[in-house]
Amino acid sequence: MGGTQIAAVGQGGERRDSWHHRRVKIVDRIEDVPLRRGEGRISGTLSVFFGALSLLGVLCFHFPEYLTTPRLRANYDLGVLRSLLLFAMLAAVGFGAFTFFRWRNKRLGAVGIGLALVTTWLGGASVEIDDFRQPAISFGLDWFVLALLANTLVFVVVERLFPHRDDQLVLRKEWQLDLGYYFFNHIMISVILLVTTAFSEQIFGWAVHDGLQAAVRSQPIWLQLIEVLFAADLVQYAGHRAMHEHPRLWNIHAVHHCPAEMDWLSGSRIHFIEVLFTRSTVLLPIYLFGFSETAVNLYVIWVGIQGVLIHSNTDLPFGPLRYLVTTPHFHHWHHAADAEAIDKNYAAHLPVIDMIFGTWVRGEEQGGGLRWPEHYGVVGKALPQGFFAQHLYPFVAPPKGDPAAVATEPDAEDLSR
Ligand SMILES: [Zn+2]
Ligand SMILES: [Zn+2]
Repeated sequence: MGGTQIAAVGQGGERRDSWHHRRVKIVDRIEDVPLRRGEGRISGTLSVFFGALSLLGVLCFHFPEYLTTPRLRANYDLGVLRSLLLFAMLAAVGFGAFTFFRWRNKRLGAVGIGLALVTTWLGGASVEIDDFRQPAISFGLDWFVLALLANTLVFVVVERLFPHRDDQLVLRKEWQLDLGYYFFNHIMISVILLVTTAFSEQIFGWAVHDGLQAAVRSQPIWLQLIEVLFAADLVQYAGHRAMHEHPRLWNIHAVHHCPAEMDWLSGSRIHFIEVLFTRSTVLLPIYLFGFSETAVNLYVIWVGIQGVLIHSNTDLPFGPLRYLVTTPHFHHWHHAADAEAIDKNYAAHLPVIDMIFGTWVRGEEQGGGLRWPEHYGVVGKALPQGFFAQHLYPFVAPPKGDPAAVATEPDAEDLSR
């Protein structure tokens, strides 16, 4: 490994070397970990999970001006949020105590209980909220905590009940990296909203037509929802396909394609430039057509669920519905490294768009049964590991198609390990 080379460069190098090894050891300990029953790891992990969320939650109560999203805050019921915080603290202590008294492996339980105690010390569920003045930009820590709680509770259970690959671990390789992406792309919600709104209103404000918008809004909600899904997906298709076909844009989007294992969390691995680009362009038809607020809200909920679901490691019985809406099977083929699936299945919501443009891969057996991809990930040279290295990657990597972008022998060896 690189560690032995670094050790040879002297004292500073040795320090880096030991730091590197320590980091690798920690990552190894919490990645690729089977949560087998009968060891205390499941209850211990749940305790740490709820403990960490309660601590982040209480911090949101303490610093709402910096850590919460004004647009979300307007819809909050404080009583419900306090109950949620209390529930998370009790869960952290309950699972932690269970680990502590029932199993020999007590470390995780102790950490979970410790986090709940710090939360209590910071005021717990009855924490006071002081008056505050809202700065122009704040972090969406509240959005991260609530979305992570809801998504984890739903999708970890669904992935266990209807698994596609049932030997895949919850704490699989690189789950921390994807959690890092999930964290960043959620806490930056204010910046995302600011950029996407400015893109539509400042650049395309002149194209708004009141008569057209009134006609759109006069339609029934269900029809508007279908239209908004179709319009947004059409724009998204164009942007997505451009990122696959333009050699330099590909290096931004390659980040999203690099996970070798797919699950509900792996879909959050998206370069921040792509987050801004896709959300800005998708918002444009919504802004120009002026769909009603209810239709847009339903669309946002739809995107939130479908975006996570299509990456998840699930094989749900969709039946013929899979021709109407994109499913995990459909989008897993988009992430496939198998030759037949390269640059196919671009649609985010409606497969009909790929059917129209000839980029649909069916992934079916002869008799019509589902066939799943063998491998996922980027074909060619492997991407660097780590959040910052991957964010830097589009600026330093050779464009797609360049001979330097093709896998060299050592990289090919790395992949096979
Ligand atoms: Zn793609
Ligand atoms: Zn994806």
